[in-house]
Amino acid sequence: MNAEPPVTILAPFDGWCTGLDEVPDPVFSGRMLGDGVAIDPVSGILLAPCAGEVVTLPASAHAVTIRTPGGAEVLVHIGIDTVQLGGRGFAAQVKLGQVVEAGQELIRFELDTVARGAKTLLTPVVVAASDGLTIRHRRAAGIIKAGDVLFEIVQARDVVHASQVTQTSDVAHSSEVTHASASASSQRTVTVQLRHGLHARPAALLAQAAKALAAEVSILAHGRTANARSVTAVMALGVRHGEEVTFTARGPDAAHAIQQLDAALETALHMESAAGHATTGDRASAVSSAVAAPSVAAAAMAGENSGGAVDGVLRGIPAVAGFAVGRATRIERREIVVEEHGGGMAHEGAQLEQARANVRARLTRVGGAGGATRREIAAAHVEFLDDPVMNEAAQELIAAGKSAGYAWRAATRRQVQALEALGDSRLRERADDLLDVESHVLLALMGEARPMNLTIPDEAVIVADDLLPSELTALDRRRLVAICLGRGGATSHVAILAAAMDVPMLVGLGTGIHAVADGAMVIVDADAGALHVAPDIPALDAARAAVATRLTNRSAERAAALADCRSLDGTRIEIFANLGSTADAVAAVENGAEGCGLLRTEFLFIDRETAPDEREQRDAYQAISTALGARPLVLRLMDVGGDKPLKYLPLPHEENPALGLRGVRTALARPDLLRTQLRAALRVEPFGVVQLLIPMVTDVAEVITVRTLIEEINAELGNGPRIKLGAMIETPAAALNASALLREVDFLSIGSNDLTQYTLAMDRGHAALAGRTDALHPAVLKLIALTANAGIEAGKTIAVCGGVAADRIAVPILLGLGVRELSVVPAAIPAIKRQIRAVRIADCRALASRCLELGSAAEVRSLAAQTSITSGDAP
Ligand code: PEP
Ligand code: MG
Repeated sequence: MNAEPPVTILAPFDGWCTGLDEVPDPVFSGRMLGDGVAIDPVSGILLAPCAGEVVTLPASAHAVTIRTPGGAEVLVHIGIDTVQLGGRGFAAQVKLGQVVEAGQELIRFELDTVARGAKTLLTPVVVAASDGLTIRHRRAAGIIKAGDVLFEIVQARDVVHASQVTQTSDVAHSSEVTHASASASSQRTVTVQLRHGLHARPAALLAQAAKALAAEVSILAHGRTANARSVTAVMALGVRHGEEVTFTARGPDAAHAIQQLDAALETALHMESAAGHATTGDRASAVSSAVAAPSVAAAAMAGENSGGAVDGVLRGIPAVAGFAVGRATRIERREIVVEEHGGGMAHEGAQLEQARANVRARLTRVGGAGGATRREIAAAHVEFLDDPVMNEAAQELIAAGKSAGYAWRAATRRQVQALEALGDSRLRERADDLLDVESHVLLALMGEARPMNLTIPDEAVIVADDLLPSELTALDRRRLVAICLGRGGATSHVAILAAAMDVPMLVGLGTGIHAVADGAMVIVDADAGALHVAPDIPALDAARAAVATRLTNRSAERAAALADCRSLDGTRIEIFANLGSTADAVAAVENGAEGCGLLRTEFLFIDRETAPDEREQRDAYQAISTALGARPLVLRLMDVGGDKPLKYLPLPHEENPALGLRGVRTALARPDLLRTQLRAALRVEPFGVVQLLIPMVTDVAEVITVRTLIEEINAELGNGPRIKLGAMIETPAAALNASALLREVDFLSIGSNDLTQYTLAMDRGHAALAGRTDALHPAVLKLIALTANAGIEAGKTIAVCGGVAADRIAVPILLGLGVRELSVVPAAIPAIKRQIRAVRIADCRALASRCLELGSAAEVRSLAAQTSITSGDAP
């Protein structure tokens, strides 16, 4: 950076700016990686802090370094200990070597996922290669917006560093080094034992050790040499666990230098194992607020996903649990090339129309030939095909002279980007569906069609970067034993389909998936999130035996899940499912749900531009009810506002949306919408199977107003007897006033997610507080106890439908407090039933009353974890 003007470094995201001293990692707080600042982010999009080249970007995408044209290297490390997430929750938006503009998107990350798995989200922004450079005009602590200036990098005057002097003597091959210098030289080859290879922290330790030495030290790996003093150069070697590196030192203290580098690696190893313990013992990874949590925690604990297999194992996220042995079968997707320029508006418009008609007919055929899940997904694809926004955009492009294919692709990609920008993983996964429809249309334009059947070998384990729903449905189920994807999401449509087809599936296996050879025998442990890529014969034999045993046990397990649930002493506990779609309802029944304890109706219509009318709502509710058979369906009335905005219902801006118009307050402010929903719900047949649940209740008056409206509509519809009505206990006010509410309703359902948020005054979506927003806080437990006691006195049901109901540690405590009904995500049901069957209510009561006396959620968890009843294996 010779006579370069100052380089301005910009905030990569919104958040809170603070000093590096605040970062709980000596590598950063001790400035080992360089000087800079730290930011606690509040958004999940990392923007380039300056223009330059991306010089480090690990496969796990948790950090990135930009080299400015002047040679300064700026490292942004998202959170601390995030390498252990193995890429889970991160998605790089650029490639290594790419030249980027300041402010360009570099990495997207899911704040929630990362916060749960990280020690902290505090993100250091430091000048990693800082020889001859210093920083000035450092931003003071406080709120910061993306793009605000963080600091400036300038040349430090009168500073001459050893590395500047000796850089030219750096050589490419270690063998040349030994005799290249008149002074002593020394060399040692070591195997890197670090789980995540030479990532930021070990690279910093090596660089720090190297800087203290007089000797010139280089590190050779993969045929490339890096100056050991440069953190980014070491990181850029991309050394992974188990790989060899050669240290070479030249100079008077060469032998000592090698010892120092060895010692630095040793320190890194100790730090890693200490961090590993801290993370695996961290409550955040143990809390399960939904079924995904145990698998996600397992993946986090499993650690690695930095690209390659470690000890022959690639780690991923279980999307569909199961175990399989089979032959890796690669599915490569053909890139469809489209001409940009079209043959005139009329011609291209007609072509697109025809192609869409062909695809529509085909989707209808495919949907009709499959089960409920396949039918629903095909119907969703027809929706995309006919989406007015996309069709309008495509028509505009055609009018501008583009070809039909070009126009359709551009319109689709625009929508994909819009979905991805919402930062909601559920919506982001819908992007795959759009891409699926895109390829159908492009093929149709070429006069082709996606083959309905793809030939695969027996025992096929599909290995691909990602898979589209139509690609999955084209596979022969009889030959398919598992699916392993490098990318993908656990709630994508393809995962839902795989679950419906009962095919074990792993997602997020990373780029290491590319190295799995076509035809290789592999073992898929989708329970543990592991793909064994090079099993030996004994391992394969053992795995085959395990598959056979599972098959034998399976029918017994299913039968057990379908049976009623009683604790060891015979107390009946009802287990319901939380649903957001018809596919969920199918899964719920298969998993032994006794009905639906919470239908989040707003989820049915979340990605729409217009409000669903009465008929559409009624059809959706009826479909779910039909999928549930005669089982009860607790339908929650619109819970809009706060953390659940709806596109078609713009609400006025509020300073504190969580404390403003949400839940029943929104419903009462928009009686037109509430009336439509009530009419739709009350028309589901047979009448009475649907029970209604009012969200976010504070006052008895709210319940009475809704009930009056229900009675009015029932009279209009000529419905018979009263329908069951419940209120959610999500505010401390509702819990404290449960007895009064019970005089007006038939049941109460505790929404522990919101009840915790409002009791602890901690935003449920606040990343930095994620580890403390815990429903097992004794204050929340006291409110649950109060509600349960009111229920017992009134002889009415008290259910828990918040995330805590699926938390293994919490279940005995809830039963001990008097809760007799739980509603959880479908996949959690068998395990919860198994756990409850092994506990005695008297033991649960004893545990619960001790928990009520404690001072924090951590103490509750620790006490509960020490008792055998939380394991479900009690005698
Ligand atoms: C809750 O608050 O616990 C609940 C079940 O409702 P939601 O998570 O949909 O707000
Ligand atoms: Mg809620």
